[in-house]
Amino acid sequence: MIETGGLLSGKVVLITGASSGIGAAAASVFAREGAAVVLAARREERLAALTAELNGKGFDAAYVVTDLTRAQDVRRAVDFTLDRHGRLDGAFNNAGIGGDRTPLHQMEDDIYDSVIDTNVRGLWNCLRAEIAAMLSGGGGAIVNNSSVGGLVAIPAAAPYVASKHAVVGFTRAAADEYARQGIRVNSVAPGSTRSEITVDWYGRNPGLEEAIHEITPQGRTAAPEEIAEAAAWLLSDRASYVTGVVMPVDGGYVNH
Ligand code: NDP
Repeated sequence: MIETGGLLSGKVVLITGASSGIGAAAASVFAREGAAVVLAARREERLAALTAELNGKGFDAAYVVTDLTRAQDVRRAVDFTLDRHGRLDGAFNNAGIGGDRTPLHQMEDDIYDSVIDTNVRGLWNCLRAEIAAMLSGGGGAIVNNSSVGGLVAIPAAAPYVASKHAVVGFTRAAADEYARQGIRVNSVAPGSTRSEITVDWYGRNPGLEEAIHEITPQGRTAAPEEIAEAAAWLLSDRASYVTGVVMPVDGGYVNH
């Protein structure tokens, strides 16, 4: 007998960026809460290993190799989910990249292009495919992963900050547009969270992690599971009257 929390019992949930960090944690948390999970990202080895681990524990997991910047890849991931489960109840649009930490006037075009392409076009591709599937299934819930950088500035990360404000914009627009068709759309805005992005940023910018802890009321970096827990609740029926919100999960950073 599998022990599950049951928050997402019976739901079919697609998770983007499930090969590492917050997305991988979400796959485990959502599965434990009773969801059948479909994992999407580019690195197949990582996806295959996590899928095998979850299935080995008796959960229902599958993966689709997906590059979110390609609309046809995203449609394939959604079609795979529909073929396997017959419906799509939830989506955690989590994938994203950080880009360089560089002053705006010195930022290279290729950083702008890759950050906007992944974080904005990638979400655009996801929302269109997921909403179409949810409309045909009678509704659903979506959580988009923004950042505290979607609410306030982060120094030397202008394209990232702009992209994460766009995530908030898409969240509000989609929530407003589909509320009467049974689709809720919300966002989480994580603060500093342990993942490949922060290992990269903190590794290349000595003192940055300590400086962020200094201005974070809880004074620490989050475990990825702490973000996944908030997303799980927003995806669940317990959040049935919540739509269009951006929930900071940030140890008090934005409030400070
Ligand atoms: P990771 O780098 O560990 O995870 C990023 C995920 O995105 C990976 O699974 C990666 O998979 C996937 N990804 C990137 N580009 C693409 C693409 N083109 N197509 C498909 N998947 C892609 O970092 P996090 O877990 O921290 O990042 C998850 C989200 O959390 C991001 O949106 C990030 O902006 C947000 N966030 C993170 C914070 C932090 O402090 N860590 C704070 C605020 C927000 P693959 O390479 O296999 O494709």
